[in-house]
Amino acid sequence: MVSGSLGVLVGDGVVYKYPKNLVRENLFNVDKAKQVVSTTRSFVIRICNKLIFDIAILPDEYSEFAGDCKSSRGLSDTIKFDRSLMAGCDNEPRPMEIFFLFVKLLHEISHAVIFQFGREFLRHERKTNVKFQTPKTHCLGAEAGSAMEKFLFGSAIDAPGIVQEDKYRINYLILSDGKQSGAINNFWIDQFVYDAINCSKLKTIESIQLPW
Ligand SMILES: [Zn+2]
Repeated sequence: MVSGSLGVLVGDGVVYKYPKNLVRENLFNVDKAKQVVSTTRSFVIRICNKLIFDIAILPDEYSEFAGDCKSSRGLSDTIKFDRSLMAGCDNEPRPMEIFFLFVKLLHEISHAVIFQFGREFLRHERKTNVKFQTPKTHCLGAEAGSAMEKFLFGSAIDAPGIVQEDKYRINYLILSDGKQSGAINNFWIDQFVYDAINCSKLKTIESIQLPW
């Protein structure tokens, strides 16, 4: 837990928030942090630029990442979305659907990042399950996608709904971690989606607003 005020730096479309007191005590190097953010961002952009996106019948998943273990360049790494989920979003998708696809896209990109990390930095590892799987660290919990959802939204996000004529209709979105799932306030989702096209507004979103 960090106490004290936060410093804020804005640059290159990124907002950096850092604990001022730790900078004074020489425990947090803002320039080094900016360097790490920049390197990480370039790494993720490079991966996104070569990913293939596809639609498939995924009976038990909304989406999945399929990496090519044998390729050294990853030109056939693919993110797939479930056909009925996409079909349910066909006519003027609601903010709820746009937000859910955004969350699942980030989820699968997290897997793609871990996969590419193994490809580049564990080159000599022969066991593919060691090389490409998410490390079982406390924060990643062996599931990079769910960990990303928890980091950003406080919980993994699920979308209860029903299939009608091969189209999956989402009823509402829930924060699915914990004993009792919480429904995400549709007003918050609307604001998040509409503000996403206005970067300066997006920066003001800090936490999810729960309906209680
Ligand atoms: Zn996952």
